Amino acid sequence: MTPEGQALLLQGGEALGLDLRERAEAFAQLLALLQEGAAQTNLTALREERDIVLKHFVDSLTCLRGGCLEGEGRVLDLGTGAGFPALPLALVRPNLRLTPVDATAKKVAFVTRAAAALGLTNVRPLAARVETLGRDPAHREGYDRVVTRAVASLPALAELALPLLRQGGLLVAQKGSLSAEELESGSRAAAEVGGAIRTVDAFALPVLGEARTLVVIEKIAPTPERYPRREGLPARKPLFWRAT
Ligand code: SAH
Repeated sequence: MTPEGQALLLQGGEALGLDLRERAEAFAQLLALLQEGAAQTNLTALREERDIVLKHFVDSLTCLRGGCLEGEGRVLDLGTGAGFPALPLALVRPNLRLTPVDATAKKVAFVTRAAAALGLTNVRPLAARVETLGRDPAHREGYDRVVTRAVASLPALAELALPLLRQGGLLVAQKGSLSAEELESGSRAAAEVGGAIRTVDAFALPVLGEARTLVVIEKIAPTPERYPRREGLPARKPLFWRAT
């Protein structure tokens, strides 16, 4: 990582109240792995150091806003891709037990390699569709938190995540700007699957200023057995989407 890249990382961290100096070396290693991996496969669209530092690393760490990911706990990262937000979270919150999940085995293989290279023993990646895990007794209600970034609409995320949470567990969904319509259908979908929206935190991504929203949904009741619906449906036909 160049000195400029490191300065951006530290600046982004500071804006989130995080001192990343002790982790800068590990983030530099992750950057190198990503650039190497991206050269071989289309692991992530971002290639430039500045983009990876701000739009992957710092952006992932914004999931810590609001303090829903403190302490110890089992955290599933729904649709982790190349490991976001799971890997940055694992680096700064070693007490979390993270399960990054993605349907694409190639991406999960990268996350597994990266976690090993970084010595992250708190990360156990899994290649699976989350609909399948949501119906598997070994995973249903097996998590304290589900985090997710850039995967699906809010109602789809509610249906995919809530079955995986224990009662009282939280879905922490990081989105770009959120329309009133998406929030409304997300809220109705959450209620349908046993959840309630707790907070909607709109903020600007450090340094770049892009709009982001962190939505937290709490599981307040058991999810009916019929959810999640079969693979693909939650994202293709989200509950209450565009319903008026
Ligand atoms: N969270 C990452 C990746 C976003 S791309 C990031 O922010 O960079 C969305 C990812 O979600 C893709 O890799 C896709 O394979 C995965 N995904 C989408 N629906 C899924 C599902 N139902 N089960 C598992 N993975 C899913």
